[in-house]
Amino acid sequence: ATPVSIMTATGRGAQAGVLIKNAEALERFARVDTLIVDKTGTLTVGKPKLVAVVPSDDRDEDEVLRLAASLERGSEHPLAEAIVAGAGARDISLAKADDFEAITGKGVTGTVDGKAVALGNAKLLEDMGVSPDAGVSDDADTRRDAGETVMYLLVDERIAGLISVADPIKDSTPAALEALHGLGLRIVMATGDNARTARSVASTLGIDDLHAEVLPADKADVIKALQAEGHRVAMAGDGVNDAPALAQADVGIAMGTGADVAIESAGFTLVKGDLTGIVRARRLSVATMRNIR
Ligand code: ADP
Ligand code: MG
Repeated sequence: ATPVSIMTATGRGAQAGVLIKNAEALERFARVDTLIVDKTGTLTVGKPKLVAVVPSDDRDEDEVLRLAASLERGSEHPLAEAIVAGAGARDISLAKADDFEAITGKGVTGTVDGKAVALGNAKLLEDMGVSPDAGVSDDADTRRDAGETVMYLLVDERIAGLISVADPIKDSTPAALEALHGLGLRIVMATGDNARTARSVASTLGIDDLHAEVLPADKADVIKALQAEGHRVAMAGDGVNDAPALAQADVGIAMGTGADVAIESAGFTLVKGDLTGIVRARRLSVATMRNIR
């Protein structure tokens, strides 16, 4: 494209809330056939809310929430915020946690009231050699099929309960995805969340393919595999964890509401942090490239 057409596109993009890093990003995006989107914070609002606390037989609901929230106070993950806020709404006072550790893509562990406490997903349970009994996993699966994210609370390596949160889909997401489909893009979701939860959200939104339970470090590999099949891939994400994937993609698209390192790794930044900006970016890219052919 000519410098003038690129300047025009960059100016139009900025007016529409799409920051274009350079001519290369603009040119490449016109050739992209596959868009990978992160779930949390990209398709969804990114502010999950506590929806249920399900204690195991001999436990009390508020006690399960108190232990979980005491631990999560040390984490900056959106799931942690939901749990701490949920405890606050019930006026539960929290205990001090020791030996806090965050395990990327899995959960958190530490000591609360002198007991070993852990909160996280099935991978975390597996690492700790614990398997949930049928009743607990059926309950968890029912919630996941409804799009909720379910975490297990372990106390002294026994399951003490489930904590479930839900993150609503952004109002702008369905129409943006429809428009992107109309512009010829195949849309693939990549998420660290559970496969059932991911499938529920993907089918609600008409997503073409999905990769769930992907550890943050492995998102870039999902992109590499698609590129090896000959696809040109754009990736939209918001998290610190998404930076390597944004850099691997032919075009990285950061949510302006997300982490700084995501923005630095991206060719496009969407100021408002919703997918409508990608529709604009695609139209600008295609129009710019058409002008020079
Ligand atoms: P995403 O791709 O949605 O951003 P992450 O890779 O951050 O997901 O996390 C994947 C999964 O790991 C979560 O769905 C959750 O089950 C578990 N997890 C991660 N961090 C935490 C935490 N602080 N507390 C509980 N569970 C967590
Ligand atoms: Mg994320």
